[in-house]
Amino acid sequence: MVLSTNRNIGLLIKTGLIIMVAGCISGSALGQSAHVNPWAPKPLGTLPPPASLSQGVWLKGELHMHSRHSKESSNNSISKIITFCRLVGIDFLAITDHDNHVEGDVAHNTWADPEFKSDSVLLLYAAEWTTTRGHGNAFSARPYDHQQLFDVRDQRDTVVGRIKNKLGIHLSANHPSGKDHFGYSYDMVNSIEVWNSAIWSKNANAIMIWDDMLSSGRKLTGRGGSDAHHGVPVGDEKPGPNTYQAKANYAGTPTTWVFATARTKQAVIDALTNGRVSISSNPYAPRVEFYADLNGDDKMDMMMGDNVKATGKPVKFKVQLTGNSIKDTTYTINVVKNGNPFGAFKMEGKMPMIEFTDTPAIAGRTYYRVTVEGPSTPYPQVPQSAALSGNMVGLSNPICFNFDPNF
Ligand SMILES: [Zn+2]
Ligand SMILES: [Zn+2]
Repeated sequence: MVLSTNRNIGLLIKTGLIIMVAGCISGSALGQSAHVNPWAPKPLGTLPPPASLSQGVWLKGELHMHSRHSKESSNNSISKIITFCRLVGIDFLAITDHDNHVEGDVAHNTWADPEFKSDSVLLLYAAEWTTTRGHGNAFSARPYDHQQLFDVRDQRDTVVGRIKNKLGIHLSANHPSGKDHFGYSYDMVNSIEVWNSAIWSKNANAIMIWDDMLSSGRKLTGRGGSDAHHGVPVGDEKPGPNTYQAKANYAGTPTTWVFATARTKQAVIDALTNGRVSISSNPYAPRVEFYADLNGDDKMDMMMGDNVKATGKPVKFKVQLTGNSIKDTTYTINVVKNGNPFGAFKMEGKMPMIEFTDTPAIAGRTYYRVTVEGPSTPYPQVPQSAALSGNMVGLSNPICFNFDPNF
């Protein structure tokens, strides 16, 4: 009896469970069909046409460099950095001293230094926002109140973002993986340092983060920066324990190229924001240019950083290397589509160029970007940098389809 009763109870429980489970299934199925996601992507409105591909100027620059106003820097006065940049043809420069070394008062230190002036190098107003949650570079064409960004550093991201927008600066995530990684929301930044210092190999995780952010709809520009702190001693300056770094990592390792509408500081910042940018291992290495022909007339209609609506028709892409060191050299072009390998192509000849065709999906976002590998180009002023960059020559920013500019 006892056993049979137990069995009956067991049966009842099992039946009840089955009914409950069935109830859950039908309930959730009903809920699913009635559910409307208020955040689901809405149809894209009209996108502005890409800007001119010819009216502009290619400028090369250094976007992460420390002068004597950073405490751990050695033999690196501002005038020494500027003189070097002129020597190797660098057009724009951001001296990004640690703001915490001067309690946020960059305006009365780096920017107030009598050496902070140049009639040929475009000097950006910049600083490295150096916080317990990580590092970022602030860039501006004109002086701004950096003290406010320093003061807000330990607040929630929503508060920081408000101040950043109020200041009207370009904010960039520095060395985003590893120590002092950028521990804030990527919603606040305009670009990300995907190539930090001459040591290319340590940037793999930064590239991974960039691809994840691009895939999520955040159209962040990838940029470079040497993060160099140490100069070559001159005159009665004494070498220090880190002086050896000056011949391995200095201004231009890597070099960030921008296609700016004019040779002005504001045009450099605008190009950095819109993504018409590529990165090369040094100022003498070839420049990567990445274009797309949307309508099959063999005339290029857009370049890296640009974003258009996909039409469902095939698009012809063109990768081109420009520079003096490309003759009779073979390069490998790796194409990445939506974070995944798309294909590898060999490029050689006097005017190296490759083309490939693909049809970006008419629904959802698609992006393509390229990396270029091959023999390194010597950099006589920083002779040990070539070995550290290995066979990495350069990389492009993405060509984008269906990205929401209001995201
Ligand atoms: Zn840093
Ligand atoms: Zn730094």
